[in-house]
Amino acid sequence: MAGRNRTDIDHELLKKVVDGIAVEIGNATEWGKNSDYIPELAKVDTRQFGIAVLTRDGKTIAGGASETQFSIQSISKVFALTLALKKHGDKVWKRVGKEPSGDPYNSIVDMERHKGIPRNPFINAGALVVDDMLLDDRAGDDIPDTVRDFIAEMIGEGEIGIDEDVVASEHTSGYTNKALANLAKSFDNLHHEVADVMHIYVRQCAVALSCRQLARAGRYLMLDREDIDDKVSKQDAERARRVNAIMLTCGQYDGSGDFAYRVGLPAKSGVGGGILAIVPNTASIAVWSPGLDENGNSLLGTLALERLSKRMDWSIFGAIRRV
Ligand code: GLU
Repeated sequence: MAGRNRTDIDHELLKKVVDGIAVEIGNATEWGKNSDYIPELAKVDTRQFGIAVLTRDGKTIAGGASETQFSIQSISKVFALTLALKKHGDKVWKRVGKEPSGDPYNSIVDMERHKGIPRNPFINAGALVVDDMLLDDRAGDDIPDTVRDFIAEMIGEGEIGIDEDVVASEHTSGYTNKALANLAKSFDNLHHEVADVMHIYVRQCAVALSCRQLARAGRYLMLDREDIDDKVSKQDAERARRVNAIMLTCGQYDGSGDFAYRVGLPAKSGVGGGILAIVPNTASIAVWSPGLDENGNSLLGTLALERLSKRMDWSIFGAIRRV
Protein backbone atom coordinates (compact mmCIF):
# COMPACT_ATOMS: atom_id res chain seq x y z
CA MET A 1 0.00 0.00 0.00
CA ALA A 2 2.81 2.41 0.85
CA GLY A 3 3.54 4.76 -2.01
CA ARG A 4 0.39 3.91 -3.97
CA ASN A 5 -0.56 6.76 -6.31
CA ARG A 6 2.14 8.83 -4.80
CA THR A 7 5.17 10.58 -6.16
CA ASP A 8 7.83 12.16 -4.01
CA ILE A 9 7.61 15.88 -3.53
CA ASP A 10 10.09 17.68 -5.75
CA HIS A 11 11.67 19.97 -3.15
CA GLU A 12 14.04 21.51 -5.62
CA LEU A 13 11.20 22.59 -7.86
CA LEU A 14 9.20 23.76 -4.84
CA LYS A 15 12.10 25.92 -3.65
CA LYS A 16 12.49 27.44 -7.10
CA VAL A 17 8.77 28.16 -7.29
CA VAL A 18 8.60 29.67 -3.77
CA ASP A 19 11.70 31.83 -4.35
CA GLY A 20 10.31 33.01 -7.69
CA ILE A 21 6.96 33.93 -6.17
CA ALA A 22 8.64 35.83 -3.31
CA VAL A 23 10.58 37.93 -5.83
CA GLU A 24 7.56 38.54 -8.06
CA ILE A 25 5.33 39.58 -5.18
CA GLY A 26 8.10 41.77 -3.74
CA ASN A 27 8.05 43.70 -7.02
CA ALA A 28 4.28 44.16 -7.04
CA THR A 29 2.90 47.62 -7.65
CA GLU A 30 -0.62 47.01 -6.31
CA TRP A 31 -0.74 45.80 -2.66
CA GLY A 32 -4.41 46.09 -1.72
CA LYS A 33 -5.65 47.86 1.37
CA ASN A 34 -5.30 46.93 5.05
CA SER A 35 -8.39 46.22 7.04
CA ASP A 36 -9.10 49.34 9.10
CA TYR A 37 -12.25 48.54 11.07
CA ILE A 38 -9.95 46.98 13.67
CA PRO A 39 -7.71 50.05 14.18
CA GLU A 40 -4.65 48.03 15.20
CA LEU A 41 -4.60 46.18 11.83
CA ALA A 42 -4.60 49.47 9.91
CA LYS A 43 -1.21 50.31 11.43
CA VAL A 44 0.59 47.32 9.88
CA ASP A 45 2.93 48.13 6.95
CA THR A 46 1.02 47.02 3.83
CA ARG A 47 4.02 46.23 1.67
CA GLN A 48 4.95 42.93 3.29
CA PHE A 49 4.70 39.37 2.04
CA GLY A 50 5.60 36.01 3.56
CA ILE A 51 5.13 32.40 2.50
CA ALA A 52 5.89 29.02 4.08
CA VAL A 53 5.15 25.58 2.67
CA LEU A 54 5.36 22.56 4.96
CA THR A 55 5.44 19.33 3.00
CA ARG A 56 4.17 15.96 4.23
CA ASP A 57 7.73 14.77 4.79
CA GLY A 58 8.28 17.55 7.33
CA LYS A 59 10.34 20.02 5.28
CA THR A 60 9.52 23.72 5.31
CA ILE A 61 10.31 25.86 2.30
CA ALA A 62 9.81 29.54 2.98
CA GLY A 63 10.24 32.92 1.34
CA GLY A 64 9.82 36.63 2.05
CA ALA A 65 8.89 37.67 5.59
CA SER A 66 8.03 34.14 6.65
CA GLU A 67 9.12 34.75 10.26
CA THR A 68 7.15 37.97 10.79
CA GLN A 69 4.14 37.47 13.03
CA PHE A 70 0.69 38.74 12.09
CA SER A 71 -2.80 38.59 13.54
CA ILE A 72 -4.42 35.37 12.32
CA GLN A 73 -7.97 36.71 12.83
CA SER A 74 -10.54 34.49 11.10
CA ILE A 75 -8.04 31.74 10.36
CA SER A 76 -8.52 30.89 14.06
CA LYS A 77 -12.05 29.76 13.16
CA VAL A 78 -10.60 26.65 11.52
CA PHE A 79 -9.01 25.57 14.79
CA ALA A 80 -12.11 26.46 16.81
CA LEU A 81 -14.29 24.38 14.48
CA THR A 82 -11.89 21.44 14.78
CA LEU A 83 -12.13 21.62 18.58
CA ALA A 84 -15.93 21.85 18.51
CA LEU A 85 -16.14 18.81 16.21
CA LYS A 86 -13.82 16.92 18.54
CA LYS A 87 -15.94 17.82 21.53
CA HIS A 88 -19.45 17.53 20.08
CA GLY A 89 -19.16 15.55 16.84
CA ASP A 90 -21.97 16.03 14.34
CA LYS A 91 -24.13 17.81 16.95
CA VAL A 92 -22.25 20.95 15.92
CA TRP A 93 -24.36 21.02 12.75
CA LYS A 94 -27.60 21.37 14.71
CA ARG A 95 -26.50 24.88 15.72
CA VAL A 96 -24.61 26.04 12.66
CA GLY A 97 -24.99 25.28 8.94
CA LYS A 98 -22.41 24.28 6.36
CA GLU A 99 -23.44 26.39 3.39
CA PRO A 100 -21.70 29.38 1.84
CA SER A 101 -23.51 32.48 3.01
CA GLY A 102 -23.68 34.79 0.00
CA ASP A 103 -23.86 37.66 2.49
CA PRO A 104 -20.96 39.53 4.08
CA TYR A 105 -19.12 37.66 6.85
CA ASN A 106 -20.61 39.91 9.54
CA SER A 107 -24.15 40.02 8.17
CA ILE A 108 -26.94 40.47 10.69
CA VAL A 109 -29.71 40.02 8.12
CA ASP A 110 -28.53 36.51 7.41
CA MET A 111 -28.84 35.55 11.09
CA GLU A 112 -32.32 36.93 11.32
CA ARG A 113 -33.38 35.22 8.13
CA HIS A 114 -32.19 31.84 9.41
CA LYS A 115 -33.63 32.27 12.91
CA GLY A 116 -30.34 32.34 14.75
CA ILE A 117 -28.70 29.41 12.92
CA PRO A 118 -25.67 30.90 11.16
CA ARG A 119 -25.03 29.68 7.63
CA ASN A 120 -21.56 28.32 8.39
CA PRO A 121 -18.89 28.26 11.12
CA PHE A 122 -16.61 30.75 9.35
CA ILE A 123 -18.87 33.78 9.17
CA ASN A 124 -18.66 35.73 12.40
CA ALA A 125 -22.05 34.64 13.72
CA GLY A 126 -21.13 30.99 13.11
CA ALA A 127 -17.77 31.37 14.80
CA LEU A 128 -19.43 32.92 17.85
CA VAL A 129 -21.82 29.97 18.12
CA VAL A 130 -18.90 27.54 17.70
CA ASP A 131 -17.02 29.34 20.47
CA ASP A 132 -20.07 29.05 22.71
CA MET A 133 -19.73 25.27 22.27
CA LEU A 134 -16.13 25.44 23.50
CA LEU A 135 -16.97 27.20 26.76
CA ASP A 136 -17.55 25.35 30.01
CA ASP A 137 -18.81 26.94 33.23
CA ARG A 138 -15.83 29.25 33.67
CA ALA A 139 -16.47 32.92 33.05
CA GLY A 140 -14.61 36.22 32.58
CA ASP A 141 -10.86 36.14 32.90
CA ASP A 142 -10.97 32.49 34.06
CA ILE A 143 -11.85 31.37 30.52
CA PRO A 144 -8.87 29.47 29.15
CA ASP A 145 -7.40 30.32 25.74
CA THR A 146 -8.47 26.92 24.41
CA VAL A 147 -8.04 27.78 20.74
CA ARG A 148 -4.62 29.37 21.24
CA ASP A 149 -3.51 26.34 23.27
CA PHE A 150 -4.67 23.94 20.56
CA ILE A 151 -2.78 25.92 17.90
CA ALA A 152 0.35 25.85 20.11
CA GLU A 153 -0.01 22.09 20.55
CA MET A 154 -0.29 21.61 16.77
CA ILE A 155 2.80 23.74 16.18
CA GLY A 156 4.65 21.91 18.92
CA GLU A 157 7.19 24.62 19.71
CA GLY A 158 5.97 25.78 23.12
CA GLU A 159 3.82 28.80 23.83
CA ILE A 160 2.44 31.23 21.29
CA GLY A 161 1.30 34.76 21.90
CA ILE A 162 -1.88 36.78 21.77
CA ASP A 163 -1.52 40.39 20.66
CA GLU A 164 -3.14 42.28 23.55
CA ASP A 165 -3.30 45.53 21.53
CA VAL A 166 -5.41 43.75 18.91
CA VAL A 167 -7.60 42.33 21.70
CA ALA A 168 -8.17 45.82 23.12
CA SER A 169 -8.74 47.26 19.64
CA GLU A 170 -11.37 44.67 18.81
CA HIS A 171 -13.13 44.90 22.15
CA THR A 172 -13.73 48.59 21.58
CA SER A 173 -14.65 48.29 17.89
CA GLY A 174 -16.60 45.02 17.82
CA TYR A 175 -20.14 46.36 17.91
CA THR A 176 -21.40 44.20 15.05
CA ASN A 177 -19.99 41.05 16.61
CA LYS A 178 -21.63 41.87 19.92
CA ALA A 179 -24.90 42.46 18.04
CA LEU A 180 -24.54 39.08 16.32
CA ALA A 181 -23.88 37.33 19.62
CA ASN A 182 -26.91 39.04 21.16
CA LEU A 183 -29.05 37.99 18.23
CA ALA A 184 -27.86 34.38 18.54
CA LYS A 185 -28.70 34.55 22.25
CA SER A 186 -32.16 35.91 21.50
CA PHE A 187 -32.76 32.84 19.30
CA ASP A 188 -31.49 30.61 22.10
CA ASN A 189 -28.44 29.59 20.10
CA LEU A 190 -25.94 30.93 22.63
CA HIS A 191 -25.82 29.13 25.97
CA HIS A 192 -23.27 31.35 27.70
CA GLU A 193 -23.10 35.07 28.35
CA VAL A 194 -22.41 37.29 25.35
CA ALA A 195 -19.41 38.83 27.14
CA ASP A 196 -17.84 35.41 27.70
CA VAL A 197 -18.32 34.32 24.11
CA MET A 198 -16.83 37.63 22.94
CA HIS A 199 -13.90 37.07 25.29
CA ILE A 200 -12.87 33.74 23.78
CA TYR A 201 -13.63 34.93 20.21
CA VAL A 202 -11.63 38.14 20.34
CA ARG A 203 -8.66 36.44 21.98
CA GLN A 204 -8.47 33.62 19.43
CA CYS A 205 -8.60 36.15 16.56
CA ALA A 206 -5.67 38.04 18.14
CA VAL A 207 -3.33 35.03 18.14
CA ALA A 208 -0.13 36.12 16.41
CA LEU A 209 1.75 33.64 14.21
CA SER A 210 4.35 33.73 11.47
CA CYS A 211 3.78 31.95 8.15
CA ARG A 212 6.20 29.27 9.27
CA GLN A 213 4.20 28.66 12.45
CA LEU A 214 0.83 28.79 10.68
CA ALA A 215 1.89 26.22 8.10
CA ARG A 216 2.92 23.92 10.97
CA ALA A 217 -0.35 24.56 12.78
CA GLY A 218 -2.25 23.38 9.68
CA ARG A 219 -0.33 20.15 9.38
CA TYR A 220 -3.15 18.11 10.92
CA LEU A 221 -5.35 19.13 7.97
CA MET A 222 -2.80 18.03 5.37
CA LEU A 223 -1.95 14.61 6.83
CA ASP A 224 0.45 12.20 5.26
CA ARG A 225 -1.70 9.29 4.03
CA GLU A 226 0.94 6.89 5.27
CA ASP A 227 0.52 8.11 8.86
CA ILE A 228 -3.14 7.10 8.99
CA ASP A 229 -3.76 4.20 11.39
CA ASP A 230 -0.25 4.56 12.62
CA LYS A 231 0.30 8.12 13.94
CA VAL A 232 -3.16 9.46 13.05
CA SER A 233 -6.54 7.87 13.80
CA LYS A 234 -9.17 7.45 11.09
CA GLN A 235 -11.40 9.72 13.14
CA ASP A 236 -8.85 12.56 13.04
CA ALA A 237 -8.37 12.04 9.30
CA GLU A 238 -12.11 12.15 8.72
CA ARG A 239 -12.44 15.33 10.78
CA ALA A 240 -9.64 16.93 8.75
CA ARG A 241 -11.49 16.05 5.57
CA ARG A 242 -14.67 17.70 6.85
CA VAL A 243 -12.88 20.86 7.96
CA ASN A 244 -11.18 21.05 4.55
CA ALA A 245 -14.59 20.81 2.88
CA ILE A 246 -15.91 23.77 4.86
CA MET A 247 -12.73 25.70 4.08
CA LEU A 248 -13.21 25.10 0.37
CA THR A 249 -16.83 26.21 0.30
CA CYS A 250 -16.83 28.94 2.95
CA GLY A 251 -13.22 29.90 3.69
CA GLN A 252 -12.79 33.10 1.66
CA TYR A 253 -15.87 35.12 2.56
CA ASP A 254 -17.80 36.06 -0.58
CA GLY A 255 -14.80 35.23 -2.73
CA SER A 256 -14.83 31.46 -2.05
CA GLY A 257 -16.03 30.56 -5.55
CA ASP A 258 -13.46 32.74 -7.26
CA PHE A 259 -10.73 31.39 -4.97
CA ALA A 260 -11.69 27.76 -5.73
CA TYR A 261 -11.60 28.60 -9.43
CA ARG A 262 -8.23 30.33 -9.32
CA VAL A 263 -6.37 28.37 -6.63
CA GLY A 264 -8.29 25.12 -6.26
CA LEU A 265 -7.39 24.42 -2.64
CA PRO A 266 -9.27 24.45 0.68
CA ALA A 267 -8.17 27.59 2.49
CA LYS A 268 -9.15 30.09 5.15
CA SER A 269 -8.27 33.74 5.13
CA GLY A 270 -8.32 36.39 7.84
CA VAL A 271 -8.59 40.16 7.75
CA GLY A 272 -5.00 40.38 9.03
CA GLY A 273 -3.98 39.30 5.50
CA GLY A 274 -3.05 35.69 6.26
CA ILE A 275 -4.29 32.63 4.39
CA LEU A 276 -3.89 28.98 5.40
CA ALA A 277 -4.25 26.64 2.40
CA ILE A 278 -4.14 22.85 2.40
CA VAL A 279 -3.06 20.45 -0.31
CA PRO A 280 -4.54 17.26 1.18
CA ASN A 281 -1.93 14.58 1.87
CA THR A 282 0.77 16.84 0.44
CA ALA A 283 1.35 20.28 1.96
CA SER A 284 0.19 22.90 4.43
CA ILE A 285 0.78 26.43 3.15
CA ALA A 286 0.67 29.81 4.85
CA VAL A 287 0.89 33.13 3.05
CA TRP A 288 0.57 36.62 4.41
CA SER A 289 0.31 40.10 2.97
CA PRO A 290 -1.83 42.65 4.87
CA GLY A 291 -3.41 44.39 1.86
CA LEU A 292 -6.87 42.98 1.09
CA ASP A 293 -8.97 42.76 -2.06
CA GLU A 294 -12.62 43.81 -2.29
CA ASN A 295 -13.78 40.56 -0.65
CA GLY A 296 -11.47 40.96 2.34
CA ASN A 297 -8.93 38.35 1.21
CA SER A 298 -5.22 39.10 0.97
CA LEU A 299 -4.70 40.42 -2.55
CA LEU A 300 -1.13 39.23 -3.01
CA GLY A 301 -1.52 36.20 -0.75
CA THR A 302 -4.21 34.92 -3.11
CA LEU A 303 -2.09 35.68 -6.16
CA ALA A 304 0.85 33.83 -4.58
CA LEU A 305 -1.32 30.77 -3.91
CA GLU A 306 -2.69 30.86 -7.44
CA ARG A 307 0.83 30.77 -8.85
CA LEU A 308 2.02 28.14 -6.37
CA SER A 309 -0.82 25.73 -7.05
CA LYS A 310 -0.44 26.20 -10.80
CA ARG A 311 3.33 25.78 -10.88
CA MET A 312 3.28 22.77 -8.50
CA ASP A 313 0.14 21.36 -10.17
CA TRP A 314 -1.52 21.12 -6.76
CA SER A 315 -5.20 21.91 -7.41
CA ILE A 316 -7.55 19.40 -5.77
CA PHE A 317 -9.61 19.52 -8.96
CA GLY A 318 -7.16 17.45 -10.95
CA ALA A 319 -3.74 17.56 -12.52
CA ILE A 320 -2.84 19.23 -15.78
CA ARG A 321 0.61 17.73 -16.07
CA ARG A 322 1.55 14.13 -16.58
CA VAL A 323 3.79 13.75 -13.51
N1 GLU B 1 -11.89 39.45 14.46
C1 GLU B 1 -12.44 39.79 13.19
C2 GLU B 1 -13.89 40.15 13.31
O1 GLU B 1 -14.58 39.53 14.03
C3 GLU B 1 -12.25 38.61 12.29
C4 GLU B 1 -12.67 38.93 10.93
C5 GLU B 1 -11.98 38.11 9.89
O2 GLU B 1 -10.78 37.86 9.91
O3 GLU B 1 -12.74 37.73 9.00
O4 GLU B 1 -14.40 41.03 12.70
